[in-house]
Amino acid sequence: MTSDKTRNWKPRTTLVHDATLRSQYGEMSEAIFLTQGYVYKTAEAAEARFKGEDPGFIYSRYANPTVDMFERRMCALEGAEEGRAMASGMAAVAAAILCSLRAGDHIVAARALFGSCRWIVETLAPRYGIEATLVDGKDIANWEQAVRPNTKLFFLESPTNPTLEVIDIAAVAALANSIGARLVVDNVFATPLLQRPLELGAHVVVYSATKHIDGQGRCLGGIVLSDKAWVEEHLQDYFRHTGPSMSPFNAWTLLKGLETLAVRVDQQMRSAARIADLLAQAPQIERVIYPGRPDHPQADIIARQMSGGSTLICFDVKGGRAGAFAFQNALDIVLLSNNLGDAKSLITHPATTTHKNLSDEARAESGIGAGTLRLSIGLEDIDDLVEDIEQALASVR
Ligand SMILES: *Cc1c(COP(=O)(O)O)cnc(C)c1O
Repeated sequence: MTSDKTRNWKPRTTLVHDATLRSQYGEMSEAIFLTQGYVYKTAEAAEARFKGEDPGFIYSRYANPTVDMFERRMCALEGAEEGRAMASGMAAVAAAILCSLRAGDHIVAARALFGSCRWIVETLAPRYGIEATLVDGKDIANWEQAVRPNTKLFFLESPTNPTLEVIDIAAVAALANSIGARLVVDNVFATPLLQRPLELGAHVVVYSATKHIDGQGRCLGGIVLSDKAWVEEHLQDYFRHTGPSMSPFNAWTLLKGLETLAVRVDQQMRSAARIADLLAQAPQIERVIYPGRPDHPQADIIARQMSGGSTLICFDVKGGRAGAFAFQNALDIVLLSNNLGDAKSLITHPATTTHKNLSDEARAESGIGAGTLRLSIGLEDIDDLVEDIEQALASVR
């Protein structure tokens, strides 16, 4: 196998070429190595491999050539030294949070989290003696007040799901550094193209690759990215011995997804900006939250830390649940589904689907009302999307 060295390419070139490994056949497209194990020529070679004196592969729970290409291409894109690909976004979030903590440690997390992320912090971690405090992450004072002598980890998502709130990553990273804690950022909504948490001071970045990185609704995947020292000290053994590894087939699918990520995100963002403006003017709509609009509540932070808006829009339909349901049921092109970042435009009603397990109080705190909808814009022709949204609006009284 020969490996193209990681070069100082711009993101769009990195997405297509970085970290490609080619076998002796010189295949153009990345090969899928569907193998669990590897064969050693001699007993001495096996010994050297296990001692770490020979850098080859040992077992696909640890590393695999196709998965390695995905990990190294993501590292190049993110500016990270090391990455470990995992079977799903949640496997990656769980690993990033749990691998470095032990009983007696304390987590501070922004409360506006993806439901399963919130369960890990609020329910699972305390079972193992790790305390957690959830704060309204928009105000840095809330993070400061929540810090305790045993605070080891900060965790946040920005923009958040589904209300697209934005948290000042550099400010939280500076606070983490001042107390010797680590900041983990779930960067799913921004994608690696619109926000670079490591450059803003975050220590660890996690993705659900299921979303924009696949972008065509095919497979689950996740990745944890950080510096070499953190991965070697905390993640490496957790990863090898608990086995959340990504399948080589999924790694291959995601590599193909990366090739088109930039063109997809560009077009989805352009369409989303237009639809956000359309919704903002519609009398049937109470509120629109879109990170690309100047009326976003944290437009100043967005200007500092993001290089684009979003492929998602959050909005409240008048008439609460009845209005939101009527709007959804009238849609023709836009499909009802809780995935996001897909080629197909998708809409979800968080209060009755993704966020139904939250208490009424927690939902209200997160800004999720009975009429709130989350719209993920796909790759359809913008004129058709506009027509679909307009006719659905017309059906809301
Ligand atoms: C989807 C999602 C996850 C979980 O990813 P899976 O691949 O579904 O396990 C985590 N965080 C955010 C923000 C997500 O949108």
